[in-house]
This record gives sequence, structure tokens and C-alpha cells, in this order.
Amino acid sequence: MSTDTTLTGGATGAVRAMPLTFHPRPDSVHARAVGGRFNTLRWAMVWLTQLVFYGGVWLTWRDGDTVRPALWMDIPHERLYVFDHVLWPQDALLFAFVLIVAALALFFVTALAGRLFCGFACPQTVYTMMFTWIEARIEGKPAARRALDAAPWRPRKIALKGAKHALWWALAAWTAITFVGYFTPIRDLLPRLGTWNMGMWEGFWLIFYASFTYVQAGFAREAVCQHMCPYARFQGVMTDAHTRQVGYDSRRGEPRAHARSAGAGAGDCVDCTICVQVCPTGIDIRDGTQYACINCGLCIDACDTVMDKVGRARGLIRYASERELAGRTAAILRPRVALYAALLLLFGALGAWQIATRPEVRLDVLRDRGVLMRETADGRIENAYVLKVANLTRDEVEYVAQVEGVPGATIVGNDRLRVAADSVASLRLTVSAPDDGMLRGAQPLDIAVAPHARPDERASERSRFLFP
Ligand code: SF4
Ligand code: SF4
Repeated sequence: MSTDTTLTGGATGAVRAMPLTFHPRPDSVHARAVGGRFNTLRWAMVWLTQLVFYGGVWLTWRDGDTVRPALWMDIPHERLYVFDHVLWPQDALLFAFVLIVAALALFFVTALAGRLFCGFACPQTVYTMMFTWIEARIEGKPAARRALDAAPWRPRKIALKGAKHALWWALAAWTAITFVGYFTPIRDLLPRLGTWNMGMWEGFWLIFYASFTYVQAGFAREAVCQHMCPYARFQGVMTDAHTRQVGYDSRRGEPRAHARSAGAGAGDCVDCTICVQVCPTGIDIRDGTQYACINCGLCIDACDTVMDKVGRARGLIRYASERELAGRTAAILRPRVALYAALLLLFGALGAWQIATRPEVRLDVLRDRGVLMRETADGRIENAYVLKVANLTRDEVEYVAQVEGVPGATIVGNDRLRVAADSVASLRLTVSAPDDGMLRGAQPLDIAVAPHARPDERASERSRFLFP
């Protein structure tokens, strides 16, 4: 697909028409297929990522007597289930560490090897590969696809295009069902799909995600990498002349000459343009490193094949730094790489510490706002509290409340609470302290709860005890 529009503008008031093309080359959406080690690696990543994505939603986990999805974002109950772990909204700091570590890992890899993620693991890349694979199976090679695009709408074209779009929609729909299946157990979702018996948000996300996948992978393709992805724009600040990226060795390749006409002094590039024809973003890597390059390595595969055929050494296009292509040495360990690695280790360690020290009980103490304090007949002062106890374990637990910080303070009445596994329960607590006239106003009071069987694993919160 190519979308040609026109922009107008000019710095000095003169109006100048500037073409804006959705894809750099109008025919680049039909890139030529190529085999080779990078193509194999890309397909390996497609299989790996999609086995995880499409398969993960079907995994189940046994919790006591119940069986639930192993990977499940239960939004109504504010829980994230990851196999045996259950995360609560209070674990937001852990999510923050995970996001920071993911971002730093991206920076680290980019500093070392450019847009490696884009070319091999980005969902946009992966789904575009799957959609174009379907297209190639139905419509044929790039030349046949272009001919079909240009052909009038006859039965054959309608049948081929219809089959392609039907399969695209099927894949997009299954992707959307899988996506929603991580939020609504898929075994519960699927039977309801037939009668469209589902909530508003489930319906919205199914339609939105299916349409999004269909448009992004079927039509926009690598144009997303160039025009929509912010990473393409700011990757330049993470790379430097030492970063290994896909690059053309112009010192070896120039001047270009067709194999047959090459004379003395000709470079190794035979100007076959196959590296351009296989490029999914439609660029010519021989023009130098470009932000539109997603580092997929397909031009390396293509050029290596050509070099094999003409009997020259592979690697005219290869993963190399600007310095290496200029005949200089390049360093792997540089200040920015060391900084990203150090931050990665730091935040990774903080995240691990956060997991290791994650409490098994959380406590919130609310003062009873209806009764500030009460004086009893025997001269004591009573304050009332509501304890919200969150049991983060997988078993029902009996908790015992304790108070300290105010001399002589004791709990009046019930001090115990049973909380079901992975649940929150409330306990109304009355605390009594002698009024000997020494303490006045608000005094700090520490309230704690601990499992009856494991008194050391307590959670506490500081509150106030009000004297007259
Ligand atoms: S594939 Fe290699 S030889 Fe052919 S044009 Fe590209 S760089 Fe030159
Ligand atoms: S220039 Fe090469 S590595 Fe970059 S996007 Fe095109 S084919 Fe992939």
C-alpha cells in the first residue's frame, strides 16, 4: 500500500509542494523474500514470541481446590496472577521496577547493537511477517502481487483478495481473542463469543484489537516503524560510532559495477539492488545508516547470497560499527554501555529485593471517625479503629492484633480475625488506656497484626490515641 499526500509550506512564505509518502518506495510493501541466517533468526523469534503469546493464555494453575489461568490480569478484583504469584495494586512499585528494567535493557541493547529489538522481536515486525507470509502464499511473489494490485477487479482478483483478507481477519480476530483472554479467562470467554454474550469492555477490546492488528500488520506494516514509533526517533541518542548496526562497507563496495562490466578498480558491489528489494522498509542501506532501518539483517542475507554467487567474500553488508566500516577499531565497553549496564543491575537488584521482601500481610488502620474517644466508668479512655487486613498468602490465616506505644494500652473485646487466602477483611478494634492525667491530646499508638501461628511476620501501622 502506498499513500501519497502533499504537504505545503515554506520557511520564507513561498509555498512549496512536498511529497509525503507513507512508504519510502511505493512498491516497498511487497518486499522480495530472502533466505539466510537472519531470516531464519527472525522466524525463530516469530515462533518463540507467538508460542508464548498464543499458548500462555491457555495455561492453568491450581490454587487449592480452584483452577485459574496461570497468567491473568483480573481487573475487577485488582489482581495480577503470574503462576504461583498474586500481585496486588500495592505492588505497583514492583511494576515500576519491571518497566524501568525493560527500558534500560532496551537502551543497553540499542547502545550495543542498534534497533535489534525492532528487527526481531517487536510485535509490529512479528505480525507484519505473519501477515505478509499469508499474502505471499495466496497472491504469490512480489511481481505477481504488484500485477494483481494493478489488475482490474475480475473474479480471480476478488477471490484471491477475498481469501487473503478473510485469513487476515481470522488471524487478527484470534489475536484479539487471545489478548482479551489474558483479562477474561479464555475458557470462559470463548463459549460466550458465539452469542456475543460479553461485557462492554470485552466487546470493545475484541473489536478494537482485531481492527488494530488488521490495519497495522496488513496495511501500515513497516511504515509504523518510520512514522509512528517514537523509538525510531530517539534511538540516535543511545547509539554512537561504536554501536554495531547493519551497515554497508562502502570502502569495499564502491565504485559499484555490474559483475560482467567490472574492471580493475571496481568495488565489490555489483549493483544488483537485491538488498533494496528485500528491505521491508524500502531503504537503500548503501546510502548510509538511516533511522528507518530496523536492523532486520535481510539485506545482509541478500548480499551474502550475491557475494557467494559472484565468488567474493561475504560481509559487504554486515553488522559493524561506523568506526569499523571506516577501518578503525570499535569498543564494546564504553561509558554509556557501562552506565546502562550499571543501572540495569541496580534496578534489577532493587526489583529482586522488592520481591524477596514482599510482605505476606498488609495493614491499613482507620480511626473510627464517629467516636473520637470514650471515657469509661472505671476512669479509662477508649478509642476505636477499623483494621483492614490484607492476606497476601495462598491460605486462610488467623491474625491477632497487638497495640503498643501508650502505657497500659490494651485491646478490649475481639482481637482476632480470620482472613481468606488472597483477600481483605476488616476488624473493629477497641483500645483502652488508663487516664492517669499524665498524657493529654493525641499520642502515637502502634497497631500491629500477625498470624497467630507466625507472630514474627507482623505488619504494623502508626496511628493516634486520643486522650482528653
Ligand atoms: S546486494 Fe550487495 S552487491 Fe547487490 S546491490 Fe546490494 S550491496 Fe551491492
Ligand atoms: S536496510 Fe537492511 S537491515 Fe535495515 S531495514 Fe532494510 S533490510 Fe533490514
